[in-house]
Amino acid sequence: MKIRIVDLLKSDIYGIDVYVRGWVRTHRQSKNISFIALNDGSTVHNLQIVIEHVKFEKNMLKTITTGSAIGIKGKFIRSAGGKQQVEVIAGDIEVYGIADPQEYPLQKKEHSLEYLREIAHLRLRTNTFGAIFRMRHNMAFAIHRYFNERGFFYFNTPIITISDSEGAGELFEVKTELKDDFFGSPANLTVSGQLEGELGALALAAIYTFSPTFRAENSNTFRHLSEFWMIEPEVAFNDINDNMDLAEDFLKYLIRYALENCESDLAFLNDNVDNGLMDKLHFVANNEFMRLPYSKAIEILQESGRQFDYPVKPGIDLCAEHERHLVEEYFRRPVIVTDYPKEIKAFYMKQNEDGKTVRAMDVLFPKIGEIIGGSEREADYTKLLQRMKELNMNTEKLWWYLESRKFGTVPHSGFGLGFERLMLFITGMTNIRDVIPFPRTPRNANF
Ligand code: ATP
Ligand code: MG
Ligand code: MG
Ligand code: MG
Repeated sequence: MKIRIVDLLKSDIYGIDVYVRGWVRTHRQSKNISFIALNDGSTVHNLQIVIEHVKFEKNMLKTITTGSAIGIKGKFIRSAGGKQQVEVIAGDIEVYGIADPQEYPLQKKEHSLEYLREIAHLRLRTNTFGAIFRMRHNMAFAIHRYFNERGFFYFNTPIITISDSEGAGELFEVKTELKDDFFGSPANLTVSGQLEGELGALALAAIYTFSPTFRAENSNTFRHLSEFWMIEPEVAFNDINDNMDLAEDFLKYLIRYALENCESDLAFLNDNVDNGLMDKLHFVANNEFMRLPYSKAIEILQESGRQFDYPVKPGIDLCAEHERHLVEEYFRRPVIVTDYPKEIKAFYMKQNEDGKTVRAMDVLFPKIGEIIGGSEREADYTKLLQRMKELNMNTEKLWWYLESRKFGTVPHSGFGLGFERLMLFITGMTNIRDVIPFPRTPRNANF
């Protein structure tokens, strides 16, 4: 019976013949018997394979080195002793592909994360990255499940677009091979699906996107990639408070989902990457987020007496160091900052009555700082047009966006969650390059 190791370890089909395939993590040889730790990618746990030397050809056994791919047919039994509880006694071995120990880099010794980034094609085969990418899958699945259960529709926005919703010089232009533009007109890779997502919400009422997003971030930080994935729900008839409730509920759901469904990978990461990981996940899942306006956040930062690299004064955009101070030192819990000055936020955010601030909300997490950015959108055609003119924006280019306010406009709101920032929090990793299989950062598109 062909079976994945994850299913085998959960079963109690002792005494039955099984057929497992995978990669050799270690091969320990003694005189008459040897033990293979086999991993097939389905779980962080290895399956112990017992090989009685008399049954097999010596030369074949020698080729089964760390990293080789093999298939084993044998009897699944409870182990007599030792650490392992179960094992397979090999009856038949097939060697698919060997890995020369002189060349294969993933031998027993520990490698630095920096080095592993240089061999992104092979780091996938380590326990750490196996755990991370299985969890990445589980989180993506949980995201779709969360929205599907609540009546949101998965809505796809274009990757090639003309809308640069933030307008911060972070665009990658799109060109055909022979022309210097997109068949006669300029185009860029999307920096956010929001503007198009809003159109979806104004028709289907509640939508979400889950898409690749591109920003020419020329900053080398632990939390920025040039290509990342963003989840953007957009909801008609929702105001800023509904939006905050949605963001908090959504994040807690995802963390709880991980705790309930990724037990062995989380336990591995807790033991090997961040000893406080489980505690942090439980804490965030079970405690209310702090909500406060930007003006109060600035006051707290100014009164903190801390010397920040980027000095704090009213009107500045918050940087990671400010955000982390609020979350890690002051409130010691996730924080939602609202009502930012309109100058530092995008044109589409709904203006407050004070004429100075907008209904923005950033969700700040420990270690990461901003994990979500969102707002109630300006639903009033005249106000939106006026704001775009104040900012000297090209209103013709966004005629379709403006028209959405002309016909049947409704209050609506939404936010963007950076998938890799969520993955940083959920896995305990500290560099965003380590939670996406093939990271894209400046001068780094080889893998
Ligand atoms: P930051 O202040 O960290 O540069 P931002 O305010 O520019 O982020 P938004 O435009 O609000 O980001 O995008 C929404 C979300 O997308 C952010 O809250 C974050 O989780 C994620 N995000 C933004 N830029 C990046 C990036 N370069 N790499 C990975 N995730 C990102
Ligand atoms: Mg940014
Ligand atoms: Mg920001
Ligand atoms: Mg933001």
